[in-house]
Amino acid sequence: MPLHLYRGREVTPAPRPPHVPRRPLWLCRACSENWPCPTARLKLKAEYGDDRTALIIYLCGLLHEAIEDMNRLHPDNGPDPGSLFNRIVGWARPRTHIE
Ligand SMILES: [Zn+2]
Repeated sequence: MPLHLYRGREVTPAPRPPHVPRRPLWLCRACSENWPCPTARLKLKAEYGDDRTALIIYLCGLLHEAIEDMNRLHPDNGPDPGSLFNRIVGWARPRTHIE
């Protein structure tokens, strides 16, 4: 781990949590944004590379879990399925080219 200077002394920064979801709220553990935050999306894209189908299948599994968690938290006023889909899965869809 790199050392940084703080008031002239070398200190080791506390390890930062990875950009993974804090359940059941589905907020990022590192930056507290709605998960997947921009950093998490970049990391997922890098991890899955060209295998966009595998990434989308993985995200669909997480979408199921997120819906269950959020409906448990808010049984009378659960999340909007469309916006939750766009947030967790939709961003990973490949861009289509229409000519
Ligand atoms: Zn994050």
